Amino acid sequence: MPAISPAKPLNIVMAASEAVPYAKTGGLADVAGALPVELAKLGHRVTLVLPGYQGLWLGHQFRQISKRFSISIGGKPVEASLEEERVSVAGACYPLRVLAVRCDSFFDRPGLYQDRNGDYPDNLDRFVLFSRAIIEAVDILGARPDEVVDILHLHDWQTALCSVYLNAMAQARRRGHLKTLLTIHNIGYQGIFPGAQFSRTGLDPSVFTPNALEFYGSVNCLKGGIIFSDGVSTVSETYAKEIMTAEFGCGLEGVLASRPDAVQGITNGIDSIVWNPETDPNLPAHYGVGDLSGKRVCKQAVQRELGLPNRDVPLLAVIGRLTPQKGFDLFLEVISELAALDIQIAVLGTGDQQLEQEFLLAKSRYPNQVGVAIGFSEGLAHRIEAGADMLVMPSRYEPCGLSQLYSLRYGTVPIVRRTGGLADTVVPFKPITAQAGVATGFHFIDPSHEALLTTLLLAIQVYREREQWGRLIQTGMNTDVSWARATKQYVRLYEMLLKENKERRTSGY
Ligand code: ADP
Repeated sequence: MPAISPAKPLNIVMAASEAVPYAKTGGLADVAGALPVELAKLGHRVTLVLPGYQGLWLGHQFRQISKRFSISIGGKPVEASLEEERVSVAGACYPLRVLAVRCDSFFDRPGLYQDRNGDYPDNLDRFVLFSRAIIEAVDILGARPDEVVDILHLHDWQTALCSVYLNAMAQARRRGHLKTLLTIHNIGYQGIFPGAQFSRTGLDPSVFTPNALEFYGSVNCLKGGIIFSDGVSTVSETYAKEIMTAEFGCGLEGVLASRPDAVQGITNGIDSIVWNPETDPNLPAHYGVGDLSGKRVCKQAVQRELGLPNRDVPLLAVIGRLTPQKGFDLFLEVISELAALDIQIAVLGTGDQQLEQEFLLAKSRYPNQVGVAIGFSEGLAHRIEAGADMLVMPSRYEPCGLSQLYSLRYGTVPIVRRTGGLADTVVPFKPITAQAGVATGFHFIDPSHEALLTTLLLAIQVYREREQWGRLIQTGMNTDVSWARATKQYVRLYEMLLKENKERRTSGY
């Protein structure tokens, strides 16, 4: 196979279970929405493949491009088709293709992965179908010699099985020089299903072994992806190191260690058009680093929106999925101490019902200080990022974290636990960093409410030193959190994978 020259545009298929602006539950959607656009802007040919969820069709112009095809799952044929929307990036210069896998029996549901009762019981079937449809898409796209796909970039467990299928098919029909990259956005979610469901994957039983997909008697989709993908990456350098340890690897640290190459850590960027306080259509006023008066308007508006009095006191924000990972239980433990101070708290989140109830209880106890919105609201997330003074992320682990990057851009000072991408993207306030003018936020290390409270008290004290606080905001807003750096790193990684003309692995670790 001739080597791909770096100057040659690559044909990249990006497959993810969610992407902005089509479907979103978390940071994966931000990355899978922004990275294809950035790659297209560099001149690469990019196709994004998504499941055809219920909310996906509204406001978009999809048209069917494939005949219906049938995929056998558990011995029953399930019908699907591919629908395409062409999106223009930067004024139509760089077309981006979006393919949705239409299979209404699996995807025409209110939730992406779950409803109030928990995960959909047929999630393995749903993402087996999705993974096999992605391969169908690669074949359809690559049918023309000038459109042969170079890179299939997979994200998380929902698409990880693609590498296992490609490996299984490799002997039968090779797909040119196609290389697969699996990006792990959160190793805590592995797509683990009862071993009895293995046959639903349609894979040969020879891969249901400990050195392939089997994981303590269960099927582990992410494990299969780690073993059979040509490259593996994750979303920050610190998290790349952390997941090699028993503390953070969630049982897959040995599998990662057995790979011949290291897991690459590429820190996410943000979509600086969607997240721009100078133009954000979700905000009642705009502002930039030179003039923060619009931020004060945003603060008043968000106070009103959350039923808080309009007061010039520090406004601390919490935004995110309410799961134990995010450490919001630590924040709840210090809420009464915080409420004793002249401060306000804005909460936006959904998830764990107990955490939801505890935040609502805090709101009813301190109605003038705690504003809570339970649910998912993109617009409110933007308005809180703009209106708050500080964003608190006490995560037990955080692969990259995007909210703190939005905070930096919106002049909202992040207070984070020093883990994963939070450690990599927030420069902690210390005498030396403050003096050098490089501090952008606050770190605490112990996952304890005492450590969190100490750091919050320090931040509230610094907030009152207006000049010092202004410097923190300015340094944060001037930090480059765009996708430019990360996109170049991904392209380098794709090129490296394409140069490695090694055989696809036939067995695992
Ligand atoms: P994760 O991917 O673990 O959920 P990230 O910090 O990487 O965490 O990304 C979270 C993204 O989801 C951010 O864009 C954040 O604004 C958004 N988000 C999380 N919860 C909500 C919510 N309840 N409403 C709106 N946006 C939310």
